[in-house]
Amino acid sequence: FELERLGVHESVDAVFPPAELAAFLADLSIDVAVVDDDGIDDCDAAVTLVYREAFLELDWIHSIQAGFDRFPRAVLEDHDVILTNSAGIHDRTVGETVAGYVLMFSRRLHDYVANQQERRWVRPEWDEGFTLPGSTACVVGTGTLGSGVAETLGALGVRVTGIRRSGDPVPGFDEVYASDRLLEAIGDADFVIVTVPLTDETHHLFDAETFDAMRDDAYFVNVARGSVVDEPALIDALEAGELAGAALDVFEEEPLPESSPLWGMDEVIVSPHAAAYTRDYFRDVGEIVRENVKRLETGAEFTNRVV
Ligand code: NDP
Repeated sequence: FELERLGVHESVDAVFPPAELAAFLADLSIDVAVVDDDGIDDCDAAVTLVYREAFLELDWIHSIQAGFDRFPRAVLEDHDVILTNSAGIHDRTVGETVAGYVLMFSRRLHDYVANQQERRWVRPEWDEGFTLPGSTACVVGTGTLGSGVAETLGALGVRVTGIRRSGDPVPGFDEVYASDRLLEAIGDADFVIVTVPLTDETHHLFDAETFDAMRDDAYFVNVARGSVVDEPALIDALEAGELAGAALDVFEEEPLPESSPLWGMDEVIVSPHAAAYTRDYFRDVGEIVRENVKRLETGAEFTNRVV
């Protein structure tokens, strides 16, 4: 297709200022502009966070997220719209966020932050704090996110196991298991970290049975998508003391409703779907878009193509 005008949809503003990305791409030979829903009509392609029906008139949509569960893939295919995503850029950001959660639990930092709000000088129980060497993290999903988590936790001395469908080895993981050994692998872990895409197969992959297979002293971390977890089953497991705690970046309903019991739990860390946030996010997305504009010019296959 012929690309003359690329719109940076205003919805990306939830993650970075759209004008920053437009400026970053200004040296391309095409016209790049920040657009709202009405402005989409004049574009051939859009970089966006959200999906709109009006995008079906475009030739190409680029998602600023790695997950593409919000885009109707079959409909896009029917309308000959190319969809590309931003997989491949979230290794270090999400890896460092997960390392942060793990250190907060092991070194009890979340307790100090909570106590500080009330000017309370309280030391942990003698047997609460621990160090990471000798502990095991099982990372469910060994792609970009999983590999970033393996790298940061590995550097802290954690033994890292992984789960993927094939079970084939992945650099950075001490051991990788196929999905059918999930219960066995998580039963052996101090930390279980979810980094799979949301698909029909992974919807509610973590339910009462999976939480039951985890150790009572294990921590659960979800940086993937809320619906990979049966949230009421997680809340039940936490309330019953069947898990030590959880760090959650994603939820079945976002923003997490004020009425959710997760907000009030001492051993739960809630972050607002921001595990990958960084001041360089627009540059990382921009590099993928730039590469594909170049490939379009030379007739090469797109990178990060999903549809
Ligand atoms: P990748 O495609 O790089 O990795 C996905 C991994 O999941 C692959 O290793 C794949 O391995 C594995 N996988 C897929 N299906 C299954 C399954 N049914 N059972 C077990 N493993 C499976 O994606 P990313 O790492 O970039 O992103 C993963 C997800 O994380 C995204 O889809 C998105 O939803 C979420 N995300 C969240 C962010 C946040 O801000 N919290 C930021 C970025 C992403 P194999 O093919 O061998 O099974």
